[in-house]
Amino acid sequence: MKKATAILPTKNGNFRIYAYQDSQNREHLALVKGEIEFKENVPLRMHSECLTGDLLGSLRCDCGEQLEKTFELLSTENSGIILYLRQEGRGIGLLNKIKAYNLQEHGLDTVEANHHLGFKSDERDYRQAAEIIQDLKVKSVKLITNNPSKIVGLERHGIIVQERIPLVTKPQQHNRQYLLTKKEKLGHAL
Ligand SMILES: [Zn+2]
Repeated sequence: MKKATAILPTKNGNFRIYAYQDSQNREHLALVKGEIEFKENVPLRMHSECLTGDLLGSLRCDCGEQLEKTFELLSTENSGIILYLRQEGRGIGLLNKIKAYNLQEHGLDTVEANHHLGFKSDERDYRQAAEIIQDLKVKSVKLITNNPSKIVGLERHGIIVQERIPLVTKPQQHNRQYLLTKKEKLGHAL
């Protein structure tokens, strides 16, 4: 699974980057700060790729802000991991995510739009993430998330989650409804 590793200096500090490839040829990244091997309670964020939010500054969601906040949070920790998982649009892919946005312009919420396109509310699976965490030889993690299903998703694949660190972003005009749906329909602790 692990294909390459290198040092990655960033404006948010120095990391080691690991590139993985899964059985569907998707390439995932692990950004690692500090010493994590055989450590317990390592801060971990599983970030699902969101091209529009992470890179283009989209305000339809809070992904970009969550990623920034994660870097801020890790700057105060001695060690930590960001997994950058290539499962765009909660696993439905970029094209379908844009289709879902179009449906939302016609009054559906983010969950209804996914259903309308024939997908589940959340198509993500954390098996690959769990395999990467095991490969990095981390004993247990503190998961940076508002999403309880991520904790269940990791524990199902044998990862010990000792704590949850909340990651709260400020709702704004364009993502207020999206965040409300995440809270009410997807069980996020917001
Ligand atoms: Zn997003």
